[in-house]
Amino acid sequence: MIVCKFGGSSLADASQIKKVRSIVDADARRSIVIVSAPGKRTKDDQKVTDMLYECARLVDEGRSASAVFDAIALRYTTILDDLGMDGQFFKPILDEVKAKIEAGAGAHWAASRGEHLNAQLVARYFGWEFLETEGRIIIADDGSVDERSYELLAQALKADKRYVVPGFYGSNAQGAVQTFSRGGSDITGAILSRASSADVYENWTDVSGVFSVDPRLVDGAHVVTTMTYQEVRELAGVGAGVFHEEAIAPVIAAKIPINVKNTNAPADAGTWIVESRACDGQPIVGVSAKGGYSRLTLRKLMLLKNSGIRHALMTMMRIFGVRPTFSLFGIDSIVWFFETSQASEGVVEAMCARLKDEFALDSIEVDHGHAIVGVVGSFVNEEATLLATINGALGGQGIGISFLNYGSSDTSVLLGVAQEQANAAVIALYRALFD
Ligand code: ASP
Repeated sequence: MIVCKFGGSSLADASQIKKVRSIVDADARRSIVIVSAPGKRTKDDQKVTDMLYECARLVDEGRSASAVFDAIALRYTTILDDLGMDGQFFKPILDEVKAKIEAGAGAHWAASRGEHLNAQLVARYFGWEFLETEGRIIIADDGSVDERSYELLAQALKADKRYVVPGFYGSNAQGAVQTFSRGGSDITGAILSRASSADVYENWTDVSGVFSVDPRLVDGAHVVTTMTYQEVRELAGVGAGVFHEEAIAPVIAAKIPINVKNTNAPADAGTWIVESRACDGQPIVGVSAKGGYSRLTLRKLMLLKNSGIRHALMTMMRIFGVRPTFSLFGIDSIVWFFETSQASEGVVEAMCARLKDEFALDSIEVDHGHAIVGVVGSFVNEEATLLATINGALGGQGIGISFLNYGSSDTSVLLGVAQEQANAAVIALYRALFD
């Protein structure tokens, strides 16, 4: 049995939905389809999800969301018309959604309707069952998927039926509709794959798999044929827009292979994401960079000797909303990188003053504009010449390295570079490692 998730661009209009139908018709094992909300039809178009967030924001500000909602409704009615369907059944559904949004149902509920409406529409078009995820996918307070969800979904699924399922949302512990983070239909697909013990989770998008480097940066960037769950997580962690990193967790225990495929080129093999792979001369799968980091440098004599201080420092930072992503420890110093967007200049200043005072630090400094570059592959630690290649590639371009994290993960080498040099670093590394 195959679970298929189709992204927003695969469902942006009637002609795309027809492609989806011929894909599912081509293989009877494709019996569960998870849909995103309609995405962009052209580069300048708007995603339905963005428009729904806009509606919630307008209502929140006490303004009318009517015009924006009508534009959303038109997206769906145009699809219905273009598919040659009788749209009568959809009118009351749209009216009800509009009324609830206008009555202040809130951002989570409003945003979830993009997928909800699309799943109803696609289910009717296919003649399949619509399966609701509200009350069946339970999202715990820490954002993880409550284990009960798999049982609840499994109970609802009948082996002889085919289902269309809305992506992106479930319910919180209190029972209210809650969305995942953006792009979260990937997570719904992974949850349904695990709940139905799927043989394969197909993730259909508008590119022919996961690229080893951002194709906007490098002409002729190649698609990775096979990569591991861990490689995907590491690549996504350094900004590669591959696959939602939280979508790996549900399938990893059940070892369900993921196949990322292209709705516009279904014959392409795409990328296989599996538990482990052989090196086959490919120690590295990709290079990516993520900017927007600030660096916090703390100094205090004997810092490393005081075992409890790290935890205490981090607890204090959390009070100011700062949660570091990367850490480096010296004998008398600690360096933390955190996302600049986590706290304003003023909050960071107050946090530094408090930390310096409370922990009697010798000094504390913050500077901004850092990026983290990741060289990702399951065999990074087995490549004797890798660090020399990385150094040579960056040195040759005059790119300085502010930190190097080698050995803490067996699947990545992380480097700190100045944000304005991040793209140049990625290009230089790609050329040196892949060309
Ligand atoms: N529609 C949602 C978004 O735009 C979720 C998804 O497409 O996966 O983020």
